[in-house]
Amino acid sequence: MGRLKRAIWAGVDLLLPPRCAACGTIVDAQGSFCAPCFAALPFITAPMCVSCGLPFETPQPEGAQCAACLASPPRFTARAALAYDGPAREVVLRLKHGDRPHLAGDMAAHLRRAAGELPGDALIVPVPLHRWRLWKRGYNQAAELAKALAAATDRPLLVDALVRRRATASSQGLNPSQRRRNLAGAIAVRTAARPLIAGRCIVLVDDVLTTGATADACARALLRAKADAVRLLTLARVVRPGSAGHIAS
Ligand SMILES: [Zn+2]
Ligand SMILES: [Zn+2]
Repeated sequence: MGRLKRAIWAGVDLLLPPRCAACGTIVDAQGSFCAPCFAALPFITAPMCVSCGLPFETPQPEGAQCAACLASPPRFTARAALAYDGPAREVVLRLKHGDRPHLAGDMAAHLRRAAGELPGDALIVPVPLHRWRLWKRGYNQAAELAKALAAATDRPLLVDALVRRRATASSQGLNPSQRRRNLAGAIAVRTAARPLIAGRCIVLVDDVLTTGATADACARALLRAKADAVRLLTLARVVRPGSAGHIAS
């Protein structure tokens, strides 16, 4: 959809009744879910792995790590608001492919809850989209979520800190080492952003955590630019047992 058409639709949206963020049913207020979707939202809550945020099925001592993180500690920590399932999956798909960037703002409270206490020097940075995809879609859904988080937490946002130097093929169906090769050198910190990254806690924002390969490539670039630490925050993450969901790819 072109920018003009999108602007017109954004105007029409204001005139039409608000709709459920997941299924599109008419609801009372903008940015909310219908009752059945809200009841089915798979919120991620404690106990969870202290490193990757994978929810545990049974109580665990504070600071416990999942087996995968114990075996190979990831270079960044991760948290997600929702499991990538049911209505949460619908929101992610509508945000990415449904031409509804405003859904990101609707998710601000969920992102803030999942982010927890952010350090005072936190800097919010979205996972970048290649400029061809950005041109085709008209917006980067990760950047829209990052903007929503920055507004909700009153922390600064550096929307173009990272750049995708080439369009990468989908990493679906690749094994971890193939994924790493697929992404090697594809993501970099912009030269102008380096002084702002050094010594800071970077909150890296994306819509969904699946294999973790993209987030890992971003974290590597940020840490090479002397970021103090990288925390990944996603709206949703894959948690089904047996599916790719571990972040130390
Ligand atoms: Zn609904
Ligand atoms: Zn873990």
